[in-house]
This record gives sequence, C-alpha cells and structure tokens, in this order.
Amino acid sequence: MSPAVHEFDVVVVGFGCAGAAAAQEAAAAGASVVLLERASGAGGSSAQSGGELYLGGGTAVQRACGFEDSADNMFAYLSAALGPHADLEKLRLYCEGSVDHFEWFRSCGIDFLPSLYDAPTWMPPTQDGLMWLGENAWPYTTIATPVPRGHRPATEGWAGHTVMAGLISAAEQAGATTHVDTRATALVVDGDRVGGVRARHFGADVTYRARRGVVLTTGGFVDNEVMLADHAPALLGHGKVSDGLDDGSGIAMGQSVGAAVRRMSAVEVAYTALPALLVRGMLVNGRGQRFVNEDVYPGVFSHAAFHQPGPCWAIVDEAGLEAIPAADAWGVRPQHAAETLPELEADLGLPTGSLEATVGLYNRHAADGHDPVFNKASKWVRVLEGPWAAVDPRLGFSPEGRDGQTPGSGFSGFTLGGLHTTVDGEVLSLTGDPISGLYAAGRATSGIHGDGYVSGTSLGDGTFFGRRAGRAVAESAPADATAT
Ligand SMILES: Cc1cc2nc3c(=O)[nH]c(=O)nc-3n(C[C@H](O)[C@H](O)[C@H](O)COP(=O)(O)OP(=O)(O)OC[C@H]3O[C@@H](n4cnc5c(N)ncnc54)[C@H](O)[C@@H]3O)c2cc1C
Repeated sequence: MSPAVHEFDVVVVGFGCAGAAAAQEAAAAGASVVLLERASGAGGSSAQSGGELYLGGGTAVQRACGFEDSADNMFAYLSAALGPHADLEKLRLYCEGSVDHFEWFRSCGIDFLPSLYDAPTWMPPTQDGLMWLGENAWPYTTIATPVPRGHRPATEGWAGHTVMAGLISAAEQAGATTHVDTRATALVVDGDRVGGVRARHFGADVTYRARRGVVLTTGGFVDNEVMLADHAPALLGHGKVSDGLDDGSGIAMGQSVGAAVRRMSAVEVAYTALPALLVRGMLVNGRGQRFVNEDVYPGVFSHAAFHQPGPCWAIVDEAGLEAIPAADAWGVRPQHAAETLPELEADLGLPTGSLEATVGLYNRHAADGHDPVFNKASKWVRVLEGPWAAVDPRLGFSPEGRDGQTPGSGFSGFTLGGLHTTVDGEVLSLTGDPISGLYAAGRATSGIHGDGYVSGTSLGDGTFFGRRAGRAVAESAPADATAT
C-alpha cells in the first residue's frame, strides 16, 4: 500500500506555543494549515511552563498598575539581561511589537488581571497579572528605568496550560487542522526547496506536501544527550526543564538540508534556591563567599551559582526566616541550624572563618543600610544575627522530595540555541541564504537570547516570531503543486 499523502499550503511541525502562533497567523491569512504533533495532544513544554510572558513597552496591565514603559526602556533592560550577544535585530522588533503582542494574547482569550505581585519569587501563587523579573535589581537599575514586565494569565501558580488553552483554540478557530500522534521524521526536498515532510503515524508512513512551506516549531534539544554533549555540555548531568520531548528533531531536520545553527551553547539554568529566603539572607559558595546580589531575577543567581565552586548554601538568620510569607516559602525548611557561625561553618564543611568573615563584612555595611559589595537593594539589607539556618538548594523545593533523598545538582535547564533564522522565520543556510520553503520559530531556533535569560522570553519570542513566520509563509509564493 502506498503511503498516505496530504497536501496543505503550510505544514507546521510541533504544536507548542510557537507552532500555535505560526498556525494561527498563517490560517488567519487564508492559508490551509496542518499542525503535526508527535504527542497525543497539543501543548509541548509550553503547556507545562509557568506561563510567564515577558511583555512591555506600555501594556494595558502595566498602565493599570501605574507603570510607564517604552519600547526603548524595555530594549535597554533586555539587551543587558539577555546578553552578552543577544540578537539585537530580533530584540528591537520584539520590544517595538510588544504592546501589540500583548493584545494578541488577549485576542486569543487569555485574561490578565491589572495587579502586581510585588515580592521576589520564581512563581507567584496568586492570579496577579504582573510581576518583577529582575528589572528592579542592580545593575539593571542603572541601565533602564525599573518597570515590571512579567505578564501572567489570571491563574494561580503555573499557568502554561492557560496560555496554551488560549493559543490552541485560537489556532483551531482560525482554521488550522491538527494531526496528533504524528512524528515528522524528515523534510521532503523538491529541487532547491523544501516541499513537505515525511512523518510516522502509528507505525505508518505519511507524507505531507507543503505548497508554501514548512514551519519547524519542535522545541529545543535538552532531552537529546548526544546533541547536548556536542553543543551544550554545561547541561549534562543536570535536570531538564522540558516536557521530555525536546530531542532537537526539528533542528536536525533543518541541518539535514543545509541549515545553519546559532548560539547552540546558550542555556537557561534554574537553581532550586528560594528567592524569598535569599533576599533576607545570602547565597554563599563552597568557600563561604557571596557572589551575587541576591535580589536579582532568580535565573541570574542561578547562572552565577552554576559557575561557582560548590556546593552553594542559602544562609539566613532566624528573623529573616520568620519574615518569609508562607505563600513564598514553598514548604522549604532549613536542613542545618546553629547558634553561632563557626558551628554552622563546621556543619556545612565551609573553610574555618569563611562564613564569619562574609557575614561580618555584610553586617558592617548593613549597619548603614547598604551592600556596596554586590548592591543588593537597601530594602533587603539589615544586620543579620544568629541563630542561623542553612538550606541546601540541591535538595529542591518540596519537603517530601528532600527527606532522605540523595541530593541532585540543584540545577536544571533548557537550551536556547537552534536554527539560524531571519526575523520572519526563514531558515538560513550555511552561506546565509534563506532555504526556500523552510521556516522555524521557538526553541528550535536561536531567538532573541545571547548568554542570558529572563523568564517569559521563551514563550514570548516563540510566539512573537512564530506569528511572523506564520505570516511570511502564508504570503510566500506557492511551489508547483505537481512537483514530486
Ligand atoms: C516547567 C517549565 C516552566 C517554564 N516556564 C516558562 C515561563 O514561565 N515562561 C517562558 O517564557 N518559558 C518557560 N519555560 C520554557 C518554555 O516553556 C519553552 O522554552 C517553550 O515553551 C518552547 O516553546 P516551543 O513552541 O518552541 O516548544 P514546545 O512548547 O516544546 O513545543 C514543541 C512541540 O513539538 C512537538 N514535536 C517535537 N518534535 C516533533 C516532531 N519531530 N514531529 C512532530 N512534533 C514534534 C513536541 O511534542 C511539542 O509539542 C518553561 C518550561 C518548563 C518545562
């Protein structure tokens, strides 16, 4: 029996946020669109995410919360926070289009409440529509006017499912067709252009011909140990921030037809240290020394900790521990307690006198309300006094996960590099020319990021450039439909 053949204007491979955005725009522009998804349902890592969206420039939520912002101010912050080596061309467009992009999310049925969660956390437990993502911490306070830009759907805690529910329904309402349990395995090449994909569906071969083009939105490659070893070995041996299907298949398919890749070693890293505790105490490395202002966006202290001699410890005094609001404590309990710093040093295996010296220096300046060494904001700076407690970030957040368990590394992450694309999602070859009929977006591509990461920029750039790719492929000239 010959394999089934389907024909559409546009074939989108992968139904996460980038695929949904590309399909919605392409279908809305009048193209016939099919979304291929290897899982039994849409969502991908996007649906399992926190749902934080990095948006600004003066969105309705920012204005309702009393913040003035501009595209230039947003660009100033992000080019520093996502750098060095952020993609400034993509970033400029992203910032200039951010208010419109926020309205697009609303048009997909996603609601945002006009209220700010004004406390350091990885993830607010409330439905507040806005949160800080490091804009109010040094050195960024010296680079841009501090304005919160973490936009969150009206959902308590992890909200990726809310974002995806809206995007899935928007893509379907625009007219896109979805084929699940369908894993794309190779690109079909017609002469000098990509003309479709080959796929497997329950053990059968299926061919999808694409009259206008294929959009690869298959996610990153953190679940592919070989690709990690080749391109981003820093993440080997650490936890994976993914749905388990980020195997880089779209990147590999692109490379098989001569696509270039970029920023393959760039990674997001998250450390299971509690922001609410760190701001009230300090984060020290395995030599008992501070190395970062603890009020930064958690991804920044995570990156900093990643490169320290470990293990690192979260240190806090009794007053600081008791001041953490229950909602921001995430059930974290100290594993070590001591009356004096020498006792705590001995308990943690820190060099004699190291922690005492670190706390001594911190307290000397804290008496004047400052932290001139790392510039933690004065609102968090006070003299620390015993008794003392220490939390081991390697043991994670949930109390049940910690008891009697062997510690992991405490770090987990995902990849930020991928196919080299234009701002309209055209995949570029090794010689820098667009590969005809091939587009990509999301974590299958290199987006706005350089070596830095801020929450909300992955769902953010995946959807923003997914939309641009969807429009571009829908408007591209169709290939001769009879080509084989
Ligand atoms: C726990 C967690 C929290 C996070 N929190 C945030 C956050 O708050 N904000 C933020 O911006 N980012 C966050 N992220 C990161 C973000 O979710 C991802 O980087 C982003 O969702 C990637 O989107 P994507 O569309 O590129 O890929 P995905 O959403 O992963 O979608 C790719 C899809 O392609 C499918 N696929 C893969 N290969 C094939 C194939 N060969 N054929 C057919 N289908 C295929 C996959 O099954 C998947 O459904 C988080 C991630 C996780 C896991």
